[in-house]
Amino acid sequence: MSWLGSIQYHGRQWGNRTLDRHLRVGVTGLSGAGKTAFITSLVHQLTQGDQAQHLPFFSVLQQGRYLGGRLAQNQPMAIPRFPYEQNLQYLAGQPAQWPPSTTGWSQLNLTLRYRPTGAIRSRLQQHSELQLEIIDYPGEWLLDLPMLQQSYQQWSAFCWQLFRQPHRQTLSQPFAELLQTTDLNDVSELQLQRLTDGYRQLLLSFSQQAGCYLQQPGRLLVPGELAGAPMLQLLPLLPEQLEQTSALASRLSQHYQTYCDYVIKPFYRQHFSALDRQVVLVDGLAALNAGYAAVRELQQALGLIMQSFRYGPASLLHRLFKPQISKVLFAASKADHVTPEQHKALTLLLQQLLRQPIKQSQYASAKSEAMALAAIRASKSGFVEHQGQRQAVLSGRDLHTATTQTLFPGEVPAELPTAELFARHQFQFPAFLPTDNNPEQPLPHVRMDHALEFLLGDKLL
Ligand code: GDP
Repeated sequence: MSWLGSIQYHGRQWGNRTLDRHLRVGVTGLSGAGKTAFITSLVHQLTQGDQAQHLPFFSVLQQGRYLGGRLAQNQPMAIPRFPYEQNLQYLAGQPAQWPPSTTGWSQLNLTLRYRPTGAIRSRLQQHSELQLEIIDYPGEWLLDLPMLQQSYQQWSAFCWQLFRQPHRQTLSQPFAELLQTTDLNDVSELQLQRLTDGYRQLLLSFSQQAGCYLQQPGRLLVPGELAGAPMLQLLPLLPEQLEQTSALASRLSQHYQTYCDYVIKPFYRQHFSALDRQVVLVDGLAALNAGYAAVRELQQALGLIMQSFRYGPASLLHRLFKPQISKVLFAASKADHVTPEQHKALTLLLQQLLRQPIKQSQYASAKSEAMALAAIRASKSGFVEHQGQRQAVLSGRDLHTATTQTLFPGEVPAELPTAELFARHQFQFPAFLPTDNNPEQPLPHVRMDHALEFLLGDKLL
């Protein structure tokens, strides 16, 4: 009997549900980290991929207690809906394509139905439901948190320190020149808009350059409903321009303060503090491909993002917003871009990028775990004989040429590589097109069952 059919059949027990649970899971990561693919896969696994051999580490399924999942009827009307169905269409196309990345806040609600462990023991025919809300939002918004602890002057100094790094210097030069020729006593609308446009252009060009992860303020690039709001007229003056007071500096300081009060704080208060669990996706392989400066900047950006999950009683976050996230999954995404024996090193590299091994003690309130996964596996792994040795290889369709390749993508360093190593060695991890999947079959993945177990296992007991 189909799952829906069994709901009608068990109508009476349905009304007698013993438990009703609710869980909000946030999925974030910097642009391109894999949020869209992750949520699409997660929903697909829970609604169509729920076969024990496909998700061997998802215990509720292994124990035969999972009764299925479906998209909930009660999608919030005022919040963008995560475009799950459209994404599946891209993946089911001929040829299959990656769905376009989402850019703002979106949500999708699921209802998961399972038999509680107690019900099995007592042979009761009772079911429970977990109402799962999945929330997608850009990791760039978490980069704004440290701004709450900085003054406008300190923030400007921080920005220019970053913009003067070798991989950013050339791009930032025209904006530095624009500021140098700016009259600091002119606070006309035209002037503010001209400078804001210049700064937005600069952030845009950074965001298109591989390896520039740290763009602040987060809403200047993705303003959402704030487009055109005066507080988004926010840009860092040069540190030397801030040595004396000026009309422009004090106007920008006001905008900075308003941005903190009306954008950053409400985001944490209304949205972030309502999350129960969080997934943070990190594309470490792309950073390795982009070089030493990129890896350093990714590490710096993750350091800022981590501040949102380190909320011991003394932290700013705790004092202001009382977040209740109880579990954080840090995931190195796109693990199917390397051969399986490299996954351990990829996980260790992620821990290095996060600056320390993930240990619960470091997070006063949240339990955390790091793993390497592929939301949607786009390669096949195997072995070839090479000079008498067995060599692990991958095969998949190259993202750019669409030709099928069989290759050894290289080793993942288990420790952050030094500048010298980058000078000697160019990492070249591939990128693949999705495989042509039979829409009837569950999406192939790497370790999504581990992710599901960590995120949901204890809520489906
Ligand atoms: P977002 O910006 O964080 O939403 O990132 P997306 O989910 O849109 O991912 C960006 C790109 O990364 C996709 O278009 C794919 O090319 C690639 N990608 C994401 N997840 C996977 C995965 O699990 N496996 C592979 N091979 N590529 C992936």
